[in-house]
Amino acid sequence: MQALTVSLSLVAALAASQAVKFWLAGRQARSVQAHRGAVPPPFDKQISLTAHQRAADYTLARLRFGMATETVGAVLLLAWTLLGGLDALNTWVRDALQPQYGDLVYQLALVAAFSVIGGLIDLPLEWLRVFRLEQRFGFNRMTQKLFFTDLAKGTALSIAIGLPLVATVLWVMRATGEFWWLWAWGLWVGFALLMQVIVPIWIAPWFNKFEPLTDNAMAERVQALMTRCGFTAKGLFVMDGSTRSSHVNAYFGGMGRSKRVVLFDTLLRRLGGREVEAVLAHELGHFHHKHILFMMLRGFAATLVAFAALGWLARQPAFYAGLGVQPNLQAANDALALLLFLLATPPFLYFLSPLSARWSRRNEFEADAYACAQTDGADLASALLKLHEDNGSTLTPDPVYARFYYSHPPASERLAALPG
Ligand SMILES: [Zn+2]
Repeated sequence: MQALTVSLSLVAALAASQAVKFWLAGRQARSVQAHRGAVPPPFDKQISLTAHQRAADYTLARLRFGMATETVGAVLLLAWTLLGGLDALNTWVRDALQPQYGDLVYQLALVAAFSVIGGLIDLPLEWLRVFRLEQRFGFNRMTQKLFFTDLAKGTALSIAIGLPLVATVLWVMRATGEFWWLWAWGLWVGFALLMQVIVPIWIAPWFNKFEPLTDNAMAERVQALMTRCGFTAKGLFVMDGSTRSSHVNAYFGGMGRSKRVVLFDTLLRRLGGREVEAVLAHELGHFHHKHILFMMLRGFAATLVAFAALGWLARQPAFYAGLGVQPNLQAANDALALLLFLLATPPFLYFLSPLSARWSRRNEFEADAYACAQTDGADLASALLKLHEDNGSTLTPDPVYARFYYSHPPASERLAALPG
């Protein structure tokens, strides 16, 4: 493998992925703009023109914002790699720390410094997203104080969980020989499984309140549904999503005793009892069809491929030289290999996103079908429309854009698939 080949591949993948992103965003924008004037049938009975136009404007604003952040990301990637940013950071951290504190401290500091710089660049973008974009359309409920409290908590978690994990990975890379990537993968799988249990029980409650349903009539209705579906009674929670955003949502997650369905308080306020039941049945459908399990297994398979690729790439001098970094293959080099890999792969992986989006859409159809078998399809349909409206989702996406990105089927396809 030649260094020049590596450089050219990265530039080609980055240019191609950026071109596709802009092309798709342009298509989506044109489709939304073209249908802005009138609510398309069959939605014109339920959705007002005002709501439709707000969704259109919100979608367009998000597309523009997304393209701006994509451009920042592409420039950053080039700055880190071919323009020598990571090499300079590595040299600086190594010279400052390695002689005195040794390999592990130097490598951890490199990962930490890289993460801090990345975080500082992301911070203003996220602030703009919340306090300009979401605010402008009336979706934001977050105060400045909450924003920065979340940031502090997130940082504390990265230090408490991320740093020991990276240290262990670095140790495994060093200590387990040629097949280190297999061990590292095993470690990753163990970590991911542990997080499945820890996140819902310990971490999510640090950011949000999770409470049982208080409305008795609703609780009875929900209890009857869960019994019918064979879902354990403890697994339903209401989350105070309204402290951050007025967006409406429900999700499922966890495994074993941490298995749960979470309904946002915003959803309970917006939907009637029968609609809530239909949405809950949809979430239970994800459990019934073991979607979370398959999603995890798919993720594990993908990480195995990624670790194997890294295992091979990390030994190729051209991998480093081609990405603008001077390696030190005789000594501690693992953190550098990890960071380069994490930086350079997204433009290539971007082209796989339609596959996972398609998989996800298929799951949504299955969960919808399950919900219709357990509850009334008409309730699910009206609930889905309200969710669409409250989230400012467009009813007229570009078909190619939706195929490429949408994790949930467009409203028209989803409603068409419901019986009745
Ligand atoms: Zn779903």
